[in-house]
Amino acid sequence: MTSQLATTTVVSGTGLARDLRAEVTSAAADLTAAGNPPQLAVVVATADESTAWYVRSIRGAATKTGIRCSVVDLGPDAPPSRIGATLSALSADPEVHGIMLQTPLPDGARFADLTASISPEKDVDGANPVSLGRLGAGLTAFAPATAAAVLALLDHYEVPLAGRHAVVVGRSTVVGKPAAQLLLRRDATVTVCHRHTSDLAEHTARADVLVVAVGRTGLITAEHVRPGAMVIDVGTNPTDDGGLAGDVDAAAVSGLAGGLTPVPGGVGPVTTALLLRHTVESAARRSP
Ligand code: NAP
Repeated sequence: MTSQLATTTVVSGTGLARDLRAEVTSAAADLTAAGNPPQLAVVVATADESTAWYVRSIRGAATKTGIRCSVVDLGPDAPPSRIGATLSALSADPEVHGIMLQTPLPDGARFADLTASISPEKDVDGANPVSLGRLGAGLTAFAPATAAAVLALLDHYEVPLAGRHAVVVGRSTVVGKPAAQLLLRRDATVTVCHRHTSDLAEHTARADVLVVAVGRTGLITAEHVRPGAMVIDVGTNPTDDGGLAGDVDAAAVSGLAGGLTPVPGGVGPVTTALLLRHTVESAARRSP
């Protein structure tokens, strides 16, 4: 059966991300001309090098699209009260339209507690539990950008969702759960798998759409994939040579899956572009 499938479509995110950035650039220019330049604030309270790398990449992408990106570095010893107060002050600042809190956080600081201080209107990475609750209730809210990127890629490649069986591996608050909510909202029948799922392959091999957000290199192999399935690999695992690897063993599922996102170059660039889009959307709502 496998051999009858000639190719696996490479579900690249680079073209979609480029289109999104072009839209954002145009919207940011309009907002700036109207006296409302969009601004994204990123709050950091860690010395973690991969966080620093991620923040630099967000700032670079924002600047290129005409969005001002201010990084508020509180240092790795910042008390939770100071992080919360900073998020509240940014929420009240009319010149700030998007707010993100980076992880990891100092000992004793809880992400869900602190992100509650981000105004839902400016919560461009859908981190405030209110945003997540609204998402689950089918109300307007910014979805976490990575989960939104999964749906944006599926739409871009015109993958039908209504009535299809979607399996999400991973149930984190930032990726797995919101991705499952978004798929449910699109009328997919959704199964969510996690560390305690017995016989993972039994579930994943029935998926028309398989979304994997685990953080384990090569977890998903041929036995986990239904022939022709669309596979979205969210995993970004550092490799020994300084690169990135996904959660899916691409060589093993090549020729079996109907489509597969590359890592890097799949979900990642779309995630960043959507963060920027959320920021201009927030700014547009506050336009004078
Ligand atoms: P996380 O918070 O560590 O969650 C991992 C999830 O995977 C958990 O729900 C865990 O189950 C589940 N899991 C772990 N081992 C498993 C196994 N053997 N079988 C089935 N499920 C298993 O990670 P995350 O923040 O969601 O990130 C997941 C991956 O996505 C990471 O590689 C991360 O770097 C990447 N990521 C990429 C982007 C992007 O833009 N491309 C953005 C965010 C994250 P339990 O809940 O039972 O522990």
